[in-house]
Amino acid sequence: MRALIRDSRYLRDRFIDQEMVIEPRTIEGYAITSTKFFDKGYVTVGNATEFLDPVFSSGVTFAMESGSVAAKLVSRKLKGGEVDFQKEYVDYMMRGINTFRTYVTGWYNGDLQEIFFSKVQDPKIKKQICSVLAGYVWDDTNPFVKQHARAVKTLADHVRMQKD
Ligand SMILES: Cc1cc2nc3c(=O)[nH]c(=O)nc-3n(C[C@H](O)[C@H](O)[C@H](O)COP(=O)(O)OP(=O)(O)OC[C@H]3O[C@@H](n4cnc5c(N)ncnc54)[C@H](O)[C@@H]3O)c2cc1C
Repeated sequence: MRALIRDSRYLRDRFIDQEMVIEPRTIEGYAITSTKFFDKGYVTVGNATEFLDPVFSSGVTFAMESGSVAAKLVSRKLKGGEVDFQKEYVDYMMRGINTFRTYVTGWYNGDLQEIFFSKVQDPKIKKQICSVLAGYVWDDTNPFVKQHARAVKTLADHVRMQKD
């Protein structure tokens, strides 16, 4: 921890002599997904199902949506209704998770930076991408949701070509 602080010019002067209140610890080998989202008598929601990234606001989106969808399905089941948890819960959640995953991956591989910081900005595309990042990851009327992987890659490549 001291070495990390020393290496950062933003932190060095302010924190190098600070007393540690708790001992720095590392957490290794944690899981970011689970093999089962439901089984007899339970359904998992929020971080307990899948954790994508701490930066993208996907965490709260999925926690709220999965909690809400799961609660309605459980309620229907408890009232004796038919519920297909695989189709109505897992497949539905995975659609949103995979959309967000494209944008998280696109940020770390540079595709999103190319798009965000391009000198040429199309307001319609900007609106569609903002909508995804605001959590509308199930909105199939948005081509940046429906064709997320291809749309982001193609646009980033296009922006790169314009620069060259
Ligand atoms: C540093 C950091 C920054 C983040 N920034 C963002 C962000 O900007 N935007 C965003 O959308 N997401 C962000 N996230 C992710 C987001 O916080 C989580 O995805 C979200 O809070 C998950 O909600 P949850 O209800 O599933 O779990 P949690 O919010 O973790 O709630 C689980 C609760 O269960 C309690 N608990 C655990 N074990 C037990 C037990 N045995 N008995 C009783 N209670 C128990 C815990 O104390 C906790 O209160 C961030 C996460 C981190 C770590």
